[in-house]
Amino acid sequence: MHYGGCCGLPKQQLAVFVDGCFWHNCPIHGTKPKHNAKFWRDKIAGNQVRDRLVNRTLLARGVRVLRIWEHELKRKNENRLIVRLNRALAP
Ligand SMILES: [Zn+2]
Repeated sequence: MHYGGCCGLPKQQLAVFVDGCFWHNCPIHGTKPKHNAKFWRDKIAGNQVRDRLVNRTLLARGVRVLRIWEHELKRKNENRLIVRLNRALAP
């Protein structure tokens, strides 16, 4: 997402990710399946390692990162999400 560039300020970049609650182990909805437990544990841990690597890589290139949980997209969480987005987009 490109934004900014107004008022003589340099353009900044913001990368927005929506992380699935299950796939990225949301602290509220992350579950640990009993069937094939090791497979899922490794799979989800791998996703989290990749998330951190992506964050670090982008930050190192001057791109800010906003990660949104899947559950934050629900209608009842709309106001809180708008606050987060506004904060992230603020110069
Ligand atoms: Zn969640």
